[in-house]
Amino acid sequence: MARIRQLSADMIGRIAAGEVVERPAAAIKELIENSLDAGATEVTVEIRDGGIPFFRVTDNGCGIADSDIRLAFASHATSKVSAAEDLNSIETLGFRGEALASIAAVSRTVMLTRARDAQTGLRVEVEGGGILKITEAVRGQGTTVEVKDLFFNAPVRLKFLKKPASEAALVCDTVAQLILSRPDVRFLCVSNGKTVYRSPGDGSLESASAGVFGLRTVSSLRRVHGCAGGMTADGFVGTGENARGSRGGEMFFINRRVMRSPLLSQAVEEGCRERVMIGKFPVCVLHLTLPYESVDVNVHPNKLEVRFRQEREIKEALTGIVRDALRDRDALENPVPMRLVKEDGASRKAPDISIAGKREKREPQSAVPVVPPVKKPDEAYTCVSGKAIVSVAEPVGAYKIKEAGMKADLVQPRDKGGGSERPAEQMSLPNTGAKKPIKIFGAAFDTFILAEYDDQLLLIDQHAVHERLLFDRMMKTYGQPHEGQELLIPLIVGVTAGEQALVEENRALLESVGLVAEPFGAGELAVRTVPVVLGEAQAAAFVREVISDLRGGMEPGAEKRRAAILQTACKHAVKGGEKLREEDLRFLVEEMTEKKVVPTCPHGRPLVVALSRSEIDKKFRRIV
Ligand code: ADP
Ligand code: MG
Repeated sequence: MARIRQLSADMIGRIAAGEVVERPAAAIKELIENSLDAGATEVTVEIRDGGIPFFRVTDNGCGIADSDIRLAFASHATSKVSAAEDLNSIETLGFRGEALASIAAVSRTVMLTRARDAQTGLRVEVEGGGILKITEAVRGQGTTVEVKDLFFNAPVRLKFLKKPASEAALVCDTVAQLILSRPDVRFLCVSNGKTVYRSPGDGSLESASAGVFGLRTVSSLRRVHGCAGGMTADGFVGTGENARGSRGGEMFFINRRVMRSPLLSQAVEEGCRERVMIGKFPVCVLHLTLPYESVDVNVHPNKLEVRFRQEREIKEALTGIVRDALRDRDALENPVPMRLVKEDGASRKAPDISIAGKREKREPQSAVPVVPPVKKPDEAYTCVSGKAIVSVAEPVGAYKIKEAGMKADLVQPRDKGGGSERPAEQMSLPNTGAKKPIKIFGAAFDTFILAEYDDQLLLIDQHAVHERLLFDRMMKTYGQPHEGQELLIPLIVGVTAGEQALVEENRALLESVGLVAEPFGAGELAVRTVPVVLGEAQAAAFVREVISDLRGGMEPGAEKRRAAILQTACKHAVKGGEKLREEDLRFLVEEMTEKKVVPTCPHGRPLVVALSRSEIDKKFRRIV
């Protein structure tokens, strides 16, 4: 091995540059952050061919004074923090003082700047880190940094770059996030001469988001606003059809700083639960405001990672805020738009929150023969489901599920709107105040209920709606005790002595979730009662899960019970392709509206898809 040597300043610069400016997007991010730190209200970003041969960031910020210009390009030189304690409450985006030096070290950079009260501007030319010349120049207040031939002296880095189009997409993603981080700043982003994003800088997150995603997408997102746990959250969340296959659509801003945080992602996902299909992720643009001292942003050189002082509180608070924001969403008022007409170019490139998700194909099932309603003289209920119902007199307890019994959910009280007094197709919904009437035409393919509501034609998925109604009803009794089913023969489960003690300690808690288990000799538990919803088949697995939940300090068995409820709801709901009577269809729609259900099935698929009157008119060329 060679002898150990101290690296030259030039080498140190190049190695450091690798960390900060691994690609054009990273360099551009640093430059925009400098502009924002300089108090700019207007920022323009231009790139050519992904930024590799050329990019330029122009701002109207405070500029750099003559006396500071050389220092600006020196590494570890910053105007933003001076004492160590400043690092505990960083309010500026930059603070490491290495971005300009790093970028200049691996490119040909020209900076034009004019400080607020300077008589003239300055032009600084830097190549490979060395200042070539500084001359006077004409410029209004602000700074322009133009970077050419990035990595011209670092061929290895150059090789690691992607194709120009991919680098351009990464730059656009980065700029988009910065636009969203500062709705009060006017942004323009141009790639190869084409405007990619433009935001008005009017201070509203709606406007900024519309500039990035297009107005249409933004209007399909849900507004989130709330305060909890010493934090304010403000922004948008998209679930259901807006959900994505990755976390790429989750964007967080902490005190206006772009941040990534698994903790925040989990919090939002938890808040969106059941509204997003399994394996998918919500999209969000969320601004969190909290005291500077309670977050640490100096965790990683890319300044993207964050640590919270009060992790649990923050997570719970955010989950609650998101859940509340989504709670009263009405399926009829917020259907998923169906597109017949080509978009007017409002939606942009990456990052794209697409609305039109792919629907699963459902094989239509053979129609269920219609069985005459079961009628008992003293019953207030009439069975209207297609399938035979064993007994409808017995109220359908959420956990007393019989194969046919669940269908009794389609049983409606006689005096409740289902009578023949009203014309079947013209029904106005009770209890909904200002709600407009809904007209039901029947079910297409015995699967999608067709309805007219306000100025929209609606398609309502009969299975999804029923599944949602059943699920909600079962979840209501979820937290209630005595949902256990006694086993005929106790189930013996092998455990360690520690686990046995754990179960003993938490006896009451376990009973409340329907689990009764007691020590059975050394290293064994006798399980006597399991939650009804799980039944005997899953009992042993449930006990295992409960024990591991107890260890982790989590609510015992919550996940499994929830999954079981979900499965049960799905199994017992009417299917797509199942022929339902008109009253059934109407009942489903009525329940859906009255109960103000979450507009997705528990797996996150939408309940309602809508086509607006104007889109139909356009399709028929009635309007242009
Ligand atoms: P940092 O942002 O961490 O301080 P940089 O290397 O990015 O480090 O910038 C060094 C210094 O140059 C900044 O502290 C700031 O004083 C000055 N500077 C850089 N860009 C701008 C700009 N666009 N407008 C005004 N000042 C700037
Ligand atoms: Mg900086």
